[in-house]
Amino acid sequence: FQSFQLDPSIDKALVAMGFLKPTPIQQKAIPLAMSNKDLIGCAQTGTGKTAAFCIPILMELLKSPDKIALVMAPTRELVQQIEAFWRNLTKFNPNMHCVSLIGGLPMNGQLRALAKKPRFIVATPGRLVDHLQRRTVNLNQAKILVLDEADRMLDMGFAPQLAQVLRFVPKARQTLFFTATWDTNVDQLAKRYLKDAVLVSIGAVSQAASTIEQSLISTTAQGKNNTLLDELEQRQGS
Ligand code: AMP
Repeated sequence: FQSFQLDPSIDKALVAMGFLKPTPIQQKAIPLAMSNKDLIGCAQTGTGKTAAFCIPILMELLKSPDKIALVMAPTRELVQQIEAFWRNLTKFNPNMHCVSLIGGLPMNGQLRALAKKPRFIVATPGRLVDHLQRRTVNLNQAKILVLDEADRMLDMGFAPQLAQVLRFVPKARQTLFFTATWDTNVDQLAKRYLKDAVLVSIGAVSQAASTIEQSLISTTAQGKNNTLLDELEQRQGS
């Protein structure tokens, strides 16, 4: 972590958490994110991706006292994990207030936390849109936007909410986009949110469902169509 030249308060927090050296995704993503680039991180949960986006965010918020960061994640559990990590990371920066906006919890507590002018907002897309529509949250100062587990947010049907949020965040911002899988829907979402993004990939970019059997048949250019027809004739159904 020393090679990243982080703020001493962050170095101290990492030591307190027992983080001695960066994981592969952190090694690649932290310097890129700190150079203000848009980033696509292909990584599963468990790779250390939370720190990979929280550390560059904290560096930026320390530099820009009027700016805030917004993280969107698909589930309340993930939002709460990110919030817990942020609290540990900002142990020596007590002014870096955080609020988590998730469904199923009363609005009152969230409104009180919002009144303290949090610098770090972590939310599920549904509850965030609720707050945006009631004008109880303001994203005009959002300098960094994170979409965590973007593929899962699409699987859970959050595409309309993600499109709505985009209207409330400034165009001049940095976007960090994390996903474990890649398909055309994820690709379209990335194109809408990101500008000249750098891809950082750890492990396989996309995994087929485990129920799909795959095989490779070697053929020639001329034989290809007939081989395909032969294969299709041997099978029933889709
Ligand atoms: P995540 O993929 O962000 O959910 O992280 C997975 C787990 O690894 C969490 O429990 C983190 O606290 C832990 N972790 C992340 N980065 C490091 C690191 N550099 N050193 C030790 N543990 C880490």
